[in-house]
Amino acid sequence: MYKPFQIAALFACAVIMAFNVGPALAAAPMAKAPAPGFYRIMLGDFEITALNDGTLDLPVDKILTNTTPDKVEQALAKSYLASPVETSFNGFLVNTGNKLVLVDTGAGTGFGPNLGKLVANLKAAGYQPEQVDEIYLTHMHADHIGGLIADGKLAFPNAIVRADKRESDYWLSEENMNKAPEGEKGATKSTFKKVATLLTPYIQAGKYKPFEGSVELTPGIRSYESPGHTPGHSGYVVESKGQKLMLAGDVIHVAAVQFEQPTVTVTFDSDSKEAEAERIKEFSDASRKGYLFAAAHLPFPALGHIREMGKGFQWLPVNFTQMH
Ligand SMILES: [Zn+2]
Repeated sequence: MYKPFQIAALFACAVIMAFNVGPALAAAPMAKAPAPGFYRIMLGDFEITALNDGTLDLPVDKILTNTTPDKVEQALAKSYLASPVETSFNGFLVNTGNKLVLVDTGAGTGFGPNLGKLVANLKAAGYQPEQVDEIYLTHMHADHIGGLIADGKLAFPNAIVRADKRESDYWLSEENMNKAPEGEKGATKSTFKKVATLLTPYIQAGKYKPFEGSVELTPGIRSYESPGHTPGHSGYVVESKGQKLMLAGDVIHVAAVQFEQPTVTVTFDSDSKEAEAERIKEFSDASRKGYLFAAAHLPFPALGHIREMGKGFQWLPVNFTQMH
């Protein structure tokens, strides 16, 4: 026979089982937020921080040219991808010890909520926009210069902005704007207007200083001509203590296709033949000499090496480092 206290205990167990009261065993709620978009390496004495501006799904089967949609899908499948491909948009911060230099500013507010995160990631990386001394633009498409202005003001109030003179001459020309077609994509009237809106406040403040061709902009960072994508598209070579990094801008858009097939071009190029030749030249040089390479639309953190492979190339992302 059960004693009364045993009956009470059994009853309590039954109540707990029936109503499932007791300690919660549910999993923690998901964070549902992206990881911080910055990644840091040292290059000699320089600190390099890749800054992600966000990602967009690009219909790469429609924007790649000098190929066919079928060939694009086959190349993507080899990398376990399919169109549209979630594509990174990146800028790079170089701290030389004397200067804090930002290469490209991200898209700002012009591309919806998935882009425009560069400043938040710069802050997460331990810096403030006021600390940026110089901004080097690879070119003036809106996804690279949109971040120059925030809330109608200079987003980097202490920075001098630099780009190749041919780039600003092209985009700030009223004659070119009048000749351009209407529309939202490519070199349309609205693109020209955007460049004027974003760059003019820096020009008026005496903070825009164009350069011509290959110039040492600050000790350890030199511009170089990278023709084809836009009329004054430039790359930047960063060198410290014998180590070298190329910040190559928009010389490549789809890693899964254009390393293996560097002859594949993109509709955004102003001169796709020139862009193709420049891409092959830069990939060949980087693979032969073994220096680090980075580009705005490679998968974040977009830093790595290039190896020659058959008629094409292979992308080797950097090994993880904690900078110890
Ligand atoms: Zn771009």
